Amino acid sequence: MMDCCHGVNRRGFLLLIVGSLLGCIAPRHAYSFISIISEAEESEIGKKADQEILARFGRYRDQQLQAYVESVGQRLVDGIGPTSFRYSFKIVDISDVNAMALPGGYIYITRGMLAMLNSEAQLAGVLGHEIGHVTSRHAAKQLTKALGAQILALGLMAASPGGRENTGEWARVSTALFEHVLLGYGREAEMEADECGLRTAYQIGYDPGEMVAFLKAMKMKERLEALGYHGFQGTHPETSDRVVKAETMASILIGQRSGSLDVKANEYKAHLDGLVYGAKQDKRRLKIYVAKDGDTPATVARDVLGDQQLAWEVANLNGVKEAAVFHQGDQVKTLPPVSRGLHDGRQLELTPN
Ligand SMILES: [Zn+2]
Repeated sequence: MMDCCHGVNRRGFLLLIVGSLLGCIAPRHAYSFISIISEAEESEIGKKADQEILARFGRYRDQQLQAYVESVGQRLVDGIGPTSFRYSFKIVDISDVNAMALPGGYIYITRGMLAMLNSEAQLAGVLGHEIGHVTSRHAAKQLTKALGAQILALGLMAASPGGRENTGEWARVSTALFEHVLLGYGREAEMEADECGLRTAYQIGYDPGEMVAFLKAMKMKERLEALGYHGFQGTHPETSDRVVKAETMASILIGQRSGSLDVKANEYKAHLDGLVYGAKQDKRRLKIYVAKDGDTPATVARDVLGDQQLAWEVANLNGVKEAAVFHQGDQVKTLPPVSRGLHDGRQLELTPN
């Protein structure tokens, strides 16, 4: 399928961006469905579904990392201007590469996603994408479409304070909601959220090119694992279409700016030391190595991991080519091999029989 932006000139594209960003920042006027479900009701749905998400996935327990994610998220929220939602940003303890948003501002990022990202600008782009789903009220829109106003109203009554717990109406709302939260909100909404993410991160000074780099890494990962953005054969549009659109938008935004933009790769990676990686039972954790001038993925693999064969893995983990050269002080993600853990007495003690 042809990407929708190919036929639009640069000026027309800019207008398109501005138009959809009005949806990002002032969604109140964007959809006619708004009268069916109020922002207060959305917050009630989010509050109730939040407990279900946390019960289902579990929170990742690392206060420092949690506080860091929350601080980047809240700076993005400050950037979008006045909002009636109270945003929160929580890390969930699963290895899938994903981020999710519930109505009312409840946003989640998986530890798998945090392990994959390579800069604070990328984190801001991903959180900005989820903020875009909230401000554009994609969940409310989809729920109204999927359930109809009447069932939704009954579900809302069940979710409201003093409402009956675990009613059939709430179960229907919750099931429909989770489907969209996990699989995505459809092509148009995902594209819209990408634009919101790029723009929101850019507004507070992040380099939008980093979001493009992240989408390219996702494309590579999909090719390797045959998985979509939301972990399933999601309705997120073809990642290649998203890359093309994000690239165009990033180049327009960068062209508008005279000052420098933040990437903050080292600041970001420094927070990942000790992050649980992959399945919990594997007991693998990322280790951050501080590079010397002239280090390459191959020297890190040989000197730090004891196996030069792992050069590709080091390059891939850090979003660089195998031929890349690190600079003095660069923070480099490494993943100590599993077999080494088995010879480590302390780790053996932790292994249940
Ligand atoms: Zn999305």
